[in-house]
Amino acid sequence: MIRPLLEPTLRGWDMHLSPPQFDQLAIYAAELQRWNERVNLTAITDLPAIATRHFLDSLACARCWSSAPSSLFDIGTGAGFPGLVLKILWPSTKLLLVDSVGKKTAFLAHMVSLLNLPEVEIVTARAEALGQSQSYREQYVGGVARAVAALNVLSELCLPLVKVGGRFVAPKGADGAVEAAEARRAIGQLGGKLQGIMSVDLPGVDRRTLVIIDKLKPALSYLPRAVGVPDKRPL
Ligand code: SAH
Repeated sequence: MIRPLLEPTLRGWDMHLSPPQFDQLAIYAAELQRWNERVNLTAITDLPAIATRHFLDSLACARCWSSAPSSLFDIGTGAGFPGLVLKILWPSTKLLLVDSVGKKTAFLAHMVSLLNLPEVEIVTARAEALGQSQSYREQYVGGVARAVAALNVLSELCLPLVKVGGRFVAPKGADGAVEAAEARRAIGQLGGKLQGIMSVDLPGVDRRTLVIIDKLKPALSYLPRAVGVPDKRPL
């Protein structure tokens, strides 16, 4: 049962899921375990760890918004974290899931169809390419990305997709503030401003943080640079 693994922490956050939402998370966990036997999707495989390190860690991002954003992207989503979990929390949010690896997006397509989730777009691509595409650049009021790159690199991959007035949230480890300080210049060039850092306490997990960046103006037009460059020569 997944519900008892999630509910005490969610109650502490004043976050409430309905029985059908808990059912969706239970199906998600079971499918993740089943697929992971033949496709390497995650190193985290036992149910209590999935509940805490994937589901609660993803749901924590929602605390950075006062209400559900109308649109949200997740870059380098892997098996759907945090984006697909947030979609279960916010069914009316239009979601874009991006990963460059086809076996991961195949799993995402399977989950979206099994859970019957509307308005989810799944794209197998590099974020750098989407950031320079008119169909995606500055089209989203919200964005998340976890465990993809250091914040200076991540900002170049993600901030171009955020609309002016929108918000990007990156779950990080205990050193979120250090990464944010190192990414200050990059964030500025991308039209962002560090809004704050929220501390997240998960049961049995080292301290986590959420770095919150607001988009105040458009990113410089030549950003993001070509595929691979953000990583090779960080801003
Ligand atoms: N966000 C997930 C997966 C993290 S692993 C989680 O937290 O569990 C990092 C993922 O980012 C991998 O699946 C990798 O394929 C993807 N990735 C890395 N660089 C990328 C890029 N430039 N564009 C799109 N996806 C990328």
